[in-house]
Amino acid sequence: MNVEVFTAKPTPMSRVIIIGSGIAGLFAALRLEKAGHEVIIITKQRPEDSSTNWAQGGIAGILDKTDGKAMEAHIADTLSCGDGLCDVEIVKCVVEEAGDRIRDLLSIGVNFEKDGNEFHLVKEGGHSARRILHAKDATGAEIERALNNAVSASDNITLRPHTLGVDLIQRVHGQPEKGIKGIWCLKLDSGEMESLAGDSVLIATGGCGQLWERTTNPSVASGDGLAMAVRAGAASKDMAFFQFHPTALMAGNSRPFLITEALRGEGGVLLDDEGLKSYRKLGSGPKNYSFTLQSSPDGSLATRDIVARSCDQRMKITGADNVWLITDHLSKDKLHSQFPNIESRLNQYGLSLARDPLPVAPAAHYMVGGLSVDINGRVLMDSGEVIPGLYGIGEVACTGMHGANRLASNSLLEAIVFANRAAEHFNSQTLDNIESVPSWRAEGMLELEEHAPLIRDLETLRKTMTDDVGIVRSFDRLERAKRMLALLTKEVDMIWNRSIPTRELVELRNLLLVATHITDDALARNENKGLHWNKDLI
Ligand SMILES: Cc1cc2nc3c(=O)[nH]c(=O)nc-3n(C[C@H](O)[C@H](O)[C@H](O)COP(=O)(O)OP(=O)(O)OC[C@H]3O[C@@H](n4cnc5c(N)ncnc54)[C@H](O)[C@@H]3O)c2cc1C
Repeated sequence: MNVEVFTAKPTPMSRVIIIGSGIAGLFAALRLEKAGHEVIIITKQRPEDSSTNWAQGGIAGILDKTDGKAMEAHIADTLSCGDGLCDVEIVKCVVEEAGDRIRDLLSIGVNFEKDGNEFHLVKEGGHSARRILHAKDATGAEIERALNNAVSASDNITLRPHTLGVDLIQRVHGQPEKGIKGIWCLKLDSGEMESLAGDSVLIATGGCGQLWERTTNPSVASGDGLAMAVRAGAASKDMAFFQFHPTALMAGNSRPFLITEALRGEGGVLLDDEGLKSYRKLGSGPKNYSFTLQSSPDGSLATRDIVARSCDQRMKITGADNVWLITDHLSKDKLHSQFPNIESRLNQYGLSLARDPLPVAPAAHYMVGGLSVDINGRVLMDSGEVIPGLYGIGEVACTGMHGANRLASNSLLEAIVFANRAAEHFNSQTLDNIESVPSWRAEGMLELEEHAPLIRDLETLRKTMTDDVGIVRSFDRLERAKRMLALLTKEVDMIWNRSIPTRELVELRNLLLVATHITDDALARNENKGLHWNKDLI
């Protein structure tokens, strides 16, 4: 195997390595290059392959900084959704910076939907007002397009697709407090390992939805950044809080396709089979027949934790594979114009908005916990000290913004606020330029002969997480998961220690580590809060 050592240019300018090309990584890259730094973005597939690209509903935020009342309401909704566990200072800081950062997106070229001269605002579950900017039902794709265009136009940013970050390189091996100086990567087109030197590394690798059998996340969401930072001494936080989206489409055999909450914001209602029968027989608006009213007076538009749990329980009680999202009482013209992407996907299954009941069920969606970071996105150790030169931004980081449950459309907002804060913090630092890094330990490593055992282990992992660490948990189930995860980890570690890395091996190793952190955090909790629901604690 060829091992290449990539050495940083000996110039006074700093070099920053960013792992990930979603909203957090791209936004930070543009801020850093503006300050004159050299930026290398590595990303494991194409530049646009990210959760960001699939975001539908929009980005929450108040543009008018003088509208204190509107900001207070956004803060109050976020805190209420977070079930008492949000960091109030962080929430205030994100909501107050929203206007400036959204204006940054506009100046980069993002086009949000307008209604005359004003932005068209939508509402989603848990929001008390319309405050979500959107680009029809493909907001993420519009943001990703504009950011990628701006990055391509920059001379100081190099974006390297099909490059998989494998592990961080510490300045002094085994001493996280001394900091990070680069990353080992796997070049996926050649299979070669490469060492990249950087004065700082920004982890922007997104979430880990691939841990569950049903997820709205793209295949790249395998918790890599979280796992590599933990191996380098970082602390994880609030990992038990994983958000399941209540309404992923259950049609055909394709991967779950998200039906945005904004559709319920426009009046869509969730019914079970009985509710649907009554609605058809008795009429008078579907809202009154919704099982979700048993869980919250807000019914289908309660916060995601409540609605997803309500769907999960209903499906378990009735034995059905799905519940129904009803939109036939709403304006066809309005829905078709506001949700063209969803309508076109539905048409592939012979379904249509404002006409058919849509079969939906919850699917793993968003990692609320993550790397423990400070207000500037600096990654922390268990001791609370920072790891110099290491930042975590976007979904991979747990800033305290979401508490025990994320309010819809707050994650794109949190990502740009913290990408900006991390970049500004880096700009204010003087760090020693890193000039060389060690090559990957290649000696004695063998090509992986068989991938079949890894595929089986991945299936077992996903089944374990789905059955035992899902929406409703119990101590017995969590203990069972812990035992299974320990067994799988032992098997995979054995393969890892003797093999040249492949993408499948790297991801499985990372997923197992993240799954263990989620399970351990869930086991350690003696109270049900937000997204963590253990039936033994009721
Ligand atoms: C279907 C869907 C709809 C959503 N809708 C909304 C919405 O309307 N509003 C909202 O606020 N939020 C929404 N979210 C959540 C939001 O999109 C994400 O939280 C956010 O986009 C995360 O951005 P990010 O930059 O942190 O990560 P991502 O956008 O996920 O980007 C992660 C990047 O890291 C790369 N990567 C990962 N591991 C490695 C590695 N080892 N080496 C190299 N590269 C790596 C990936 O390839 C990718 O480029 C939605 C999520 C999904 C899945």
